[in-house]
Amino acid sequence: TERTLVLIKPDGVRRGLVGDIISRIERKGLTLAALELRQIDEDMAGRHYAEHQGKPFFPSLVEFITSGPLVAGVLEGPRAVAAFRQIAGGTDPVEKAAPGTIRADFALETQENLVHGSDSPESAEREIALWFPNLSD
Ligand code: ATP
Repeated sequence: TERTLVLIKPDGVRRGLVGDIISRIERKGLTLAALELRQIDEDMAGRHYAEHQGKPFFPSLVEFITSGPLVAGVLEGPRAVAAFRQIAGGTDPVEKAAPGTIRADFALETQENLVHGSDSPESAEREIALWFPNLSD
């Protein structure tokens, strides 16, 4: 079994899509190992998005991700990392996400694309240690 970090970003909370997104996660068969409403500061945003520091969209991304409460969770299951990315869809909700995915079905813009999922098992371990230190082995 594998674990992955999921975020329902502030746009998802503001738009009332938390229940729908969690429902899709559960219907896929992934198990919730942690789930929590959080509001993060700029320091935490910079740690989470460390790989994007210096990119043109970074300041705007930090402003967005700190703009309101978000839902952070840990999902468990076989190939959990790839399975969540499959149901999330590609980063650009219109050009990249396939119909039937969370992003394609509910989002229009690349920044406000509703969810985050770890992009590899290694990223998942790093991100789970950052967000849920008590869950890390
Ligand atoms: P995530 O890491 O959130 O699951 P991802 O792996 O699909 O998304 P990344 O390339 O890691 O995408 O980018 C992280 C986040 O930064 C995206 O989900 C999106 O919110 C934002 N982002 C990425 N590229 C752009 C861009 N060109 N313009 C605006 N925002 C962007």
